[in-house]
Amino acid sequence: MGIYTRDAYRKVMGSIGNIAFFASIVRIAGMVVPLCVAPHPVLRTTAREVTAFTDALHRLARDLIETMYANDGIGLAAPQIGQGLQVFVANPSRQRGRELVVVNPILDVATGRARMVEGCLSVPKMWERVKRAAHVRMSGRDIFGKPLVVEADGLLAIALQHEFDHLQGRLFIDRLPWFRRRRLAARWVRPASVEGAWR
Ligand SMILES: [Zn+2]
Repeated sequence: MGIYTRDAYRKVMGSIGNIAFFASIVRIAGMVVPLCVAPHPVLRTTAREVTAFTDALHRLARDLIETMYANDGIGLAAPQIGQGLQVFVANPSRQRGRELVVVNPILDVATGRARMVEGCLSVPKMWERVKRAAHVRMSGRDIFGKPLVVEADGLLAIALQHEFDHLQGRLFIDRLPWFRRRRLAARWVRPASVEGAWR
């Protein structure tokens, strides 16, 4: 996910519960890898559950982190680098060592309403205001397979929802009202219809 407006930067960063930050734990070098851009089919495919918490997964997380930073993003999901696995990274603080990595996420709670301008590294040069939940609780696994729960509001809550959508094959443009989607459909990227409580 990329957020580019000054308005969005001013928003309060989300609070994070009991999580271990990834970068301080695992010492595997990551690489900047090419991004998949819409309409690449991997972006429209539901990602597979991770069953093996191995070095390959750690390397994938590291690649996601390095690629996110190289592209000035605050979140990146595995399908965006061509890996159809339920993994994403997020770091609205942009401080190295504060990256959150979530594996096999489930959105347990999504309450309140927020609107923020979002961009996406897989949908270049497009920024739109998106309606989302203001507060979320997400459960999943960390990269070692340990259960993880993240409670978030602010920018982190938005990033978690944006990246979670990627793992379901959804893009932020799918959540726009019909008249804005129609405008986008005339361009090179075609939004899909989306079902959910937070449209
Ligand atoms: Zn995105």
